[in-house]
Amino acid sequence: MPDDKSSTQELEQLIAYTRNYVEYQGSLGLTGFVPQRSISLEQVREELGDCKRCKLCETRTNIVFGDGDERAKLVFVGEGPGRDEDAQGLPFVGRAGQLLTKIIQAMNLERSQVYICNIVKCRPPENRNPQTDEIAACEPFLQKQLEAIKPQIICTLGTSATQTLLRTTEPISKLMGRFHEYHGISVMPTFHPAYLLRNPHAKKEVWEDMQLIQQEYDK
Ligand code: SF4
Repeated sequence: MPDDKSSTQELEQLIAYTRNYVEYQGSLGLTGFVPQRSISLEQVREELGDCKRCKLCETRTNIVFGDGDERAKLVFVGEGPGRDEDAQGLPFVGRAGQLLTKIIQAMNLERSQVYICNIVKCRPPENRNPQTDEIAACEPFLQKQLEAIKPQIICTLGTSATQTLLRTTEPISKLMGRFHEYHGISVMPTFHPAYLLRNPHAKKEVWEDMQLIQQEYDK
């Protein structure tokens, strides 16, 4: 039988080993395994500054950083700002945004209780899809926003947001209807509200996804 002293030594060795391992993972940049230093949304916004890290800065009116509760349990991530969002500097304020607000309210939540942002923070010209280099330049700031908020659930809206976050090329239709994982956060992909405006018949599938989110949210 080990005495109390040797048990304590073993415990101390285990703690030291664990600490070294965590620091080693951190030195490799494996942030998913390491408890992150807390960062605030304000700090992320400050770091972004008057960003010119990609060519979308040349045509934007406003950076659309994100909007909502810094402590939100649920974050919606879209693709990029459209014309109305670019003009106002706020995410999801056009027709698609109004539909998103209705979807949120149908889940018995208010917009102010969730956080809403996009993969890229400047409007792609003519609402084209964001390009790979633009996503690569902007995504670190989305990652930091999610690190600051630490939500329980992320709902990705549309193909671009879903494929970017989940690092997949699978079509969204094959990813909907079940939770995926992003750094320990549950991710539910669903159609973008702009797609729903063009294809109202798809609302049923989105509503089924929202019900799954609601169940997870209430846990
Ligand atoms: S899209 Fe993102 S990376 Fe590109 S200029 Fe805007 S804020 Fe910067």
